[in-house]
Amino acid sequence: MPSAHDFLERCDKLAVMGGTFDPIHNGHIAIASAVLQEFSPRRVLFVPGGRPPHKPGYDVTNGEHRFKMTLSAVCENPAFDVSRMEIDRKGPSYTVDTMAKLREICPPGAKIYFIIGADALMEILTWHGAEKLLGLCEFIALHRPGYDFDEKYIEDLREKYGAIIHIFEGPLLQISGTEIRKKFAEGQAVGGLLPRVAEDHARENSLYSLPAPDLSQSHFETVKLSISTLLSPRRFKHTLGTIIEAEKLAAHYGADVNKARWAALLHDCAKEFSAAKKRLLCERWCIALDEVLSAHIDITHSLLGAESARRNYQINDPEILQAIAFHTTGGANMTLLDKIILLADFIDPYREDYPPLEEMRRHAYTDMKKALRIGMEYNVQDLQARGNAIHPWTRDAMKEI
Ligand code: ATP
Ligand code: MG
Repeated sequence: MPSAHDFLERCDKLAVMGGTFDPIHNGHIAIASAVLQEFSPRRVLFVPGGRPPHKPGYDVTNGEHRFKMTLSAVCENPAFDVSRMEIDRKGPSYTVDTMAKLREICPPGAKIYFIIGADALMEILTWHGAEKLLGLCEFIALHRPGYDFDEKYIEDLREKYGAIIHIFEGPLLQISGTEIRKKFAEGQAVGGLLPRVAEDHARENSLYSLPAPDLSQSHFETVKLSISTLLSPRRFKHTLGTIIEAEKLAAHYGADVNKARWAALLHDCAKEFSAAKKRLLCERWCIALDEVLSAHIDITHSLLGAESARRNYQINDPEILQAIAFHTTGGANMTLLDKIILLADFIDPYREDYPPLEEMRRHAYTDMKKALRIGMEYNVQDLQARGNAIHPWTRDAMKEI
């Protein structure tokens, strides 16, 4: 069975980039690229560490996530690869063991570099097995904004421990994992600091604990303003009507009124994206297109709306997002909020010219299921009459109502 490290058996010049990569960022990639140019190793091998013993006081993200982020960020460069060696290792993970192992795998006499930033180099003597490590490979040491090289310390490493250290004036980038985690946690933009795929992975998996969404009145007004400029006047009026109706329904049925108005505000935020934009965003935001969605791309506006609410308006409340995502098709196991948004969308007070409207309004506050059933049955018949497919989620919803 081939192993991920097979290529190393023939690799006579390797550069290793160790780190926690929590997350990998553009600083790491710039450094690796510069090393590739300057030192021409056959490969730069990124080695995400296990839970590092020298990083107390902060809970390093699960290795699988760090591995995936790192791999997806670097895999398109033919000379970059990522090793699972440390994250798969049981017990504490030490760089010295990794470098010893790589020495064993690479052909005898191979040149092996360890890429290291100024901050890490200045504390290398505190690492487990530092003396042995210093003799196992050559070091490519990079300047890092905010950290000084202590010339005396480096001279000591050279003289006392025989270390070979190449000081490399690589790119100077003021980016750190710590800063990126902090920005995520505070809901600030991180664009330009790390590769998009890594950002998406972190976001999709809420790796750096998104803050509680801001559902305040003032944020509502801000978002309402941007939705008003985003949508056509007709659609914005419908949005306002849906908010009014959703608030009333939520109050009547004992649902969370504030969540109802947020879901109503954002439910159509992606509706007027062009078909091409919808298709592209589905791909980019990993929204899988089944047959029906692919044939009728407009239906995805509810799924895209939920994703856009999260990404663009920082609304990461799962109940609100689900209500937005279900508002077109409905779905299995709909919550009270899901049904309220679905119904409010149907019967918004500004809506006219919709045949079952009066009947739906008559039942809305006495028998919500009946009101929904009337609307959904009408829609299904209408779609079938026009030869359109019915989404399976709608069938699921209809079974329940
Ligand atoms: P954290 O803030 O979580 O420590 P980090 O940005 O330092 O994250 P690490 O995974 O700890 O990233 O770093 C891996 C290696 O990359 C270390 O040798 C570190 O010194 C180096 N490094 C990271 N960012 C930079 C940078 N901007 N400039 C130079 N070296 C860097
Ligand atoms: Mg660090």
